[in-house]
Amino acid sequence: MRNVILLLFLSLLSQISLADSELSNAPLDSVLSLFPTADVVKAKRGEVAAQAVFAGDSLLGYVFFIDEIFPIPAYSGRPIRALVGVSHDGVIQGVIIISHEEPILVIGVSDEDLATYINQYAGLTGIGRVKVGRQKRQGYKNIDGITGATITAMVLHRSIMESARKVITSRQLSDIEVPDESEIWIQNWEDKSWQILVLLIGLVLLTAMLFFQDWLVVRTRLFKFLRIGYLLYTLVFIGYICLAQLSIVNILTFTQVMARGFSWDTFLVDPVIFVLWSYVAFSLLLWGRGVYCGWLCPFGALQELIQKLSERLKFKHYDFPTMVHERLWAFKYMILMVLLGLSLKSIAMVSPFIEVEPFKTVFSLRFQREWWFVAYALGLVILAIFNTKLYCKYLCPLGAALSIGTRLRIFDWLRRRKQCGSPCYTCATECSVGAIKITGEIIENECHYCLECQATYWDEHKCPEMVAQRERRERRERRIKIVPTTEVE
Ligand code: SF4
Ligand code: SF4
Repeated sequence: MRNVILLLFLSLLSQISLADSELSNAPLDSVLSLFPTADVVKAKRGEVAAQAVFAGDSLLGYVFFIDEIFPIPAYSGRPIRALVGVSHDGVIQGVIIISHEEPILVIGVSDEDLATYINQYAGLTGIGRVKVGRQKRQGYKNIDGITGATITAMVLHRSIMESARKVITSRQLSDIEVPDESEIWIQNWEDKSWQILVLLIGLVLLTAMLFFQDWLVVRTRLFKFLRIGYLLYTLVFIGYICLAQLSIVNILTFTQVMARGFSWDTFLVDPVIFVLWSYVAFSLLLWGRGVYCGWLCPFGALQELIQKLSERLKFKHYDFPTMVHERLWAFKYMILMVLLGLSLKSIAMVSPFIEVEPFKTVFSLRFQREWWFVAYALGLVILAIFNTKLYCKYLCPLGAALSIGTRLRIFDWLRRRKQCGSPCYTCATECSVGAIKITGEIIENECHYCLECQATYWDEHKCPEMVAQRERRERRERRIKIVPTTEVE
């Protein structure tokens, strides 16, 4: 208590110099928790915004806010505010989170998880080589990340370590030798090189399938094999191994970061997400939202695989009448508008509503969280048995955002015939997401680019035009066969 009063008094005395150097005052209780014997805090003059902490005349170390020295906008588009204490010999005394708007930390990551993460910094050398995650790297000490909040943990880590380095290497602690270290995002790209390679192979294969879609869909067995195989790849590799399920949070973050100052650090820190988003932007422009939703979304793949299995097991399927189905589409756009509107106020405000996406429960946290989140996610998966991709069709804000982007698409490679919708309804009836109007047109916003209707388009036993062509050909072949060779001569 005596320390607090003394510190408060001395801190008031230092106000003039703090204001001069535009430093924020560190909360006194936080300073004391980092340096329990402290009784004086002084603004450190110079280019680095740190405050020197003393016990009597002896320098204990420094405290500083990471967002004042090395700010990196995280998911919220704003830097996390944390106070770090570093001793006079360069050892981190601790990290205290002061404030943040990270949606991923507000819901799904408990205070204990966050405390466990930041407590790992106490005792580390501020200029040491430290790495988040289990993957070993020579000369580095590993600390555990935050399950379900990889990017936030990485951004926080970089901000803490770079700020500490800056403080340690400026004017009193300069005799400490600072080792060279590559940027964290470069380390991540090196560490995840095999994941990036497998992802790139998958994306090249998908692009090839789309370019040669007419060739592929007529080879029914090969097409089915590749389709199921790709959905399994998306679910297992992208969803569970890379934890690269894209989310509406990425779009909200992107708008925030663009509005508040672009930084590559946030985007490059997770290479798989970065490559995937780059491909989504490319495919959105060329073919629309369907390529992501139909091929690359792990939750979409999970629902579709479940629906295909249920079909084999002869579960009864229920579709809403067309009028209801088309009205329900509007829900996902309304959800998107609410999320966008709230995010303009603050990303933290939008956090509880982002849970409309079951992705974090299913992939990042693998159903290990409060029962109501698990019940919601399982409910959606079970509903997909009876109504194909119900979540995608009516609720997904990411799907809605991508649908809006579909307006920019350049190509329309999905073929239609003049008989589509009159007199034939085969594709309209078969499209599992109900994206074909009864009049025959494909509704590009709702299409998942599964190519099933293209397989039907070329099917000589389903599509009336192809059936007629086959019958004509067969008649011709029969006629040729019955003409005796001698008569021809
Ligand atoms: S609608 Fe949403 S959940 Fe469905 S496939 Fe698209 S992004 Fe994934
Ligand atoms: S069946 Fe055709 S219209 Fe329907 S989702 Fe698949 S590609 Fe799109």
